[in-house]
Amino acid sequence: MKVILADYSGFCFGVKKAMDMVYDEIKEKGMEKELYSLGPLIHNQQVVEELENKGVKVEDDIEKIQKGSVIIRSHGVQKDVYSLAGEKSLDIVDATCPFVRRIQNIVENYHKDKYEIVIIGNPNHPEVIGINGWCNNQAFIIQEEEDVKKIPYSEKLCIVVQTTMSTPHFQKIAKLLEEKGNKIEIFNTICNATKERQDAARKLAKEVQAMIVVGGYHSSNTQKLVDICKEERPSTTYHVESVHELQDEWLIDIDVVGVTAGASTPQWIIDELLQKLNRI
Ligand code: SF4
Repeated sequence: MKVILADYSGFCFGVKKAMDMVYDEIKEKGMEKELYSLGPLIHNQQVVEELENKGVKVEDDIEKIQKGSVIIRSHGVQKDVYSLAGEKSLDIVDATCPFVRRIQNIVENYHKDKYEIVIIGNPNHPEVIGINGWCNNQAFIIQEEEDVKKIPYSEKLCIVVQTTMSTPHFQKIAKLLEEKGNKIEIFNTICNATKERQDAARKLAKEVQAMIVVGGYHSSNTQKLVDICKEERPSTTYHVESVHELQDEWLIDIDVVGVTAGASTPQWIIDELLQKLNRI
């Protein structure tokens, strides 16, 4: 069986940067200082467990952290988390991805300038919750085309999009939103890493008989890759979190299989999967 890895897969720039910052912090401070990650650093259970073994505790609520360092993950956080950390004299290891930081800055500036803010994205995703915190939690958050009707007409409207959204979906919603304001500023804030991975996954899915997508079950960008591959290969796309879930029967009569991985999937998990597939 031939195994082909997508041209772009695995850790993106933002996640790699976050991981490097955390490992540097562990190296520098060791176990001397308490180190917390505000939510799991990345949506990958294996990585979270490895970091826990090195002393990085996961805590969702900054109110519960009394001392030490707090890692802000690549998704970013609400603005008030920084002031809370300051009040508690916590050190901040800020691994907010620069692409997310750009959205936070846009939202903060346009909110100050009296624009209504629309975030196209998943209202429950930490990145979106964080962005909303830069405009006093007053953004309209919409995910689907039908949600556009909930947006009232505004004199000034600023539209941003979650970094992991698919471009065609964003474009459809943004087009509908053009009716919702007089002065409208639309920012395509989808990050390249996402698009590259999505385009490469679609291209590969067209060329192979089956696709294996490896990445955390809670990883939004991995889930998007699964959806895209399913559009091309509805009955032979499989999502696994690690090599252990791979089932041999999926590959019966398959001559060419494609592999892609979410932006939060470490290289060693991809390598283990490739090794097993190459043995089949
Ligand atoms: S997917 Fe894009 S925005 Fe998100 S962490 Fe990676 S590089 Fe940054």
